[in-house]
Amino acid sequence: MTILVVEDEPGIAAFLRRGFEAAGYTVLDTPDGPTGLALAQRDDVRLVVLDLGLPGLPGEEVLARLRALRPSLPVIVLTAKDSVADKVANLDAGADDYVVKPFSFSELLARVRARLRAGDQPSSTRLQAGGVVLDLLARRATVDGRTVDLSSREFALAEVLVRHAGQVLSKAQLLDQVWGYDFEGGSNVVEVYVRHLRRKLGADRIETVRGAGYRFVP
Ligand code: CA
Repeated sequence: MTILVVEDEPGIAAFLRRGFEAAGYTVLDTPDGPTGLALAQRDDVRLVVLDLGLPGLPGEEVLARLRALRPSLPVIVLTAKDSVADKVANLDAGADDYVVKPFSFSELLARVRARLRAGDQPSSTRLQAGGVVLDLLARRATVDGRTVDLSSREFALAEVLVRHAGQVLSKAQLLDQVWGYDFEGGSNVVEVYVRHLRRKLGADRIETVRGAGYRFVP
């Protein structure tokens, strides 16, 4: 399933590519609107993530033309303008949803999944490893059949770990996936949340791999 990213900021475009690829999507990206419009006509493109602040052709104009070209193609707008009036204007102009910068990848991914839900296979809405089951739509976690309460951040961290069960994930990868590209909190936030998850999911389910990161034990 291919996602088209139209974003001119190289750091954010790379962040989105890494995140979507890690979540199993194919990514096409371009820094400019006219190329984005051309790419959006490819049959394999199932969703567009569109930055509004684009050089040359503004994102609003890209959105309007996209709507004329492929009326049913879901478009999620990235916007730095954090005012309700702008958001409403974007939705009126044909965006299906919007995410305000700065955002975490898990927040955007949840919106993307919601938009792609109709075409999703049931299996892709549930993740399962080592007795832990995550229902990605209901955002509900169970451990050996028992429901556990996770905050949205804990759930996002659990999702990344379980999706890559058996693989070592570095602290930087986890920060990128769960907290976002511009997170400026303390570097021990990953340790703190891993500790929370160990308490809730079972201490031996998340292994510390010295000098490398963390691994969910399947
Ligand atoms: Ca921009």
